[in-house]
Amino acid sequence: MNKDELIYLSGYSETVREKVQTLIKDENLGRYLLRKYPKPHQIITEKALYKFVIDLQRTFIKKSPPLSKVIYDKKIHPVHHALGLHTFISRVQGNKLKAKNEIRIAQVFQKAPLEFMKMIVVHELAHLKEKDHNKSFYQLCCYMEPDYHYLELDMRLYLTYLERFGSLYPSSLKMPICRSPSPIT
Ligand SMILES: [Zn+2]
Repeated sequence: MNKDELIYLSGYSETVREKVQTLIKDENLGRYLLRKYPKPHQIITEKALYKFVIDLQRTFIKKSPPLSKVIYDKKIHPVHHALGLHTFISRVQGNKLKAKNEIRIAQVFQKAPLEFMKMIVVHELAHLKEKDHNKSFYQLCCYMEPDYHYLELDMRLYLTYLERFGSLYPSSLKMPICRSPSPIT
């Protein structure tokens, strides 16, 4: 197996990547993840997602601009290195300039551990204050989630698992009933 295939871990050291290769080779990656994250969150609907994000925003980011929209977006694919997106749209309405802040979460996180969901949301919320991935950006992330960096690594292990082996959690766990039907085989 080629080390360069660890596309979600390209920003990590060789040591980390080698450890992950060993986990994969020994078929222990799934066990490692399930032991730490035994079940996915239940933030399935966009209403629930909106509430989850707003609650975090109210707790940690005082005086931040209101969010007009928070959605799961199936067009965001983590392979292209985006896990979530924040958009800031300015629109002229009448004679006023109206700003709209939106947060979009890659749909893959609709079925993921709560910890990863929080990590992604914290990242996007931090962008409301700080556009760049600079020191104060990551300080803000760690203020909202002290395990931010640690969770980011595990979240990338989770994406690696999905890419190699498919779903980590059985689909019988409460999943939305209104999405497109899965193919019958
Ligand atoms: Zn970012």
